[in-house]
Amino acid sequence: MTLKPKLYGLIGFPIKHSLSPGMHNAAFSVLKIKAKYKLFELPAEQLENFLNNLKKNNIGGFNVTIPYKEKVLPYLNIKSWGVREIGAVNTVVVTKDEKLKGFNTDFAGFHRHLKELKVKPKKTAIIGAGGAAKAVCFALGKIKAEEICVYDIDAYKSLGLVSQFKDVFNQTKFSAVARIEELNLQDKDLLVNASPVGMQPDDPCLVESKAMHKDLFVYDLIYNPTETKLITQAKQAGAGFSNGLGMLLYQGVLSFGHFTGKKAPMEIMWAALEKGVRKL
Ligand code: NAP
Repeated sequence: MTLKPKLYGLIGFPIKHSLSPGMHNAAFSVLKIKAKYKLFELPAEQLENFLNNLKKNNIGGFNVTIPYKEKVLPYLNIKSWGVREIGAVNTVVVTKDEKLKGFNTDFAGFHRHLKELKVKPKKTAIIGAGGAAKAVCFALGKIKAEEICVYDIDAYKSLGLVSQFKDVFNQTKFSAVARIEELNLQDKDLLVNASPVGMQPDDPCLVESKAMHKDLFVYDLIYNPTETKLITQAKQAGAGFSNGLGMLLYQGVLSFGHFTGKKAPMEIMWAALEKGVRKL
């Protein structure tokens, strides 16, 4: 009897932009693991059905992206360190006894990439207050950023994020602003875009070019397109910049370890991402 390959994948909506399948499938292939990583593009009404039929569909684990990082939380049986603290999950493993164990590898992925870039921010601003923004906040709190100022189109979300973290990281001053101009970027050394704005070709650039400056580092979590309008603007102003490809790699490396129990072949995964980017 030949065993069917175990399935892994990414759940979210929309997710056609994702480079995760190439990265994970390259790793499975080089380690000769009989498994496949797919995109599971799920409209909201299909989420519950997907989560209730994992075993039947031979699914061993999955990553979670926009807009489900918070919505999947109630389905988890086990929350590993970070998931509860951050309030978002991006990696779920189906255990042998069919429990759902959640991890947050976004936080560590962002943290590691920031360290690699040698960015040591003090005064920071975040656009967006969803699942990824929470992981970014947690990472910035851990590195003792002096200030984190958050703007989200939904003011309740940014206020919620601030109240979630303000007592956890008491060395950091948290604030939520109602208008993007109030992020006061002139006074900041890091701006993180953790909103989806920039993924679509006709998306506006949320920040005015006059707000950019040389002492600012702009980190856009978006990696497809590789250069958002926000990044172009940062380049033009002589600011530092990065897209989210490094974060994608590092969160993927950790997720792969959780899925397979094996050390992820990082160089292979990076090469697969670079190949994916060249095809965009
Ligand atoms: P999410 O949970 O849906 O959060 C996005 C947040 O941005 C929501 O609160 C949303 O508000 C808000 N938003 C939408 N339009 C906005 C605007 N014009 N101004 C300010 N805020 C706005 O999504 P997520 O999972 O956090 O992902 C966010 C982005 O990060 C996505 O582009 C995702 O692909 C990227 N990401 C990249 C990596 C990586 O490894 N590079 C990892 C994680 C996430 P509403 O809900 O009211 O629309």
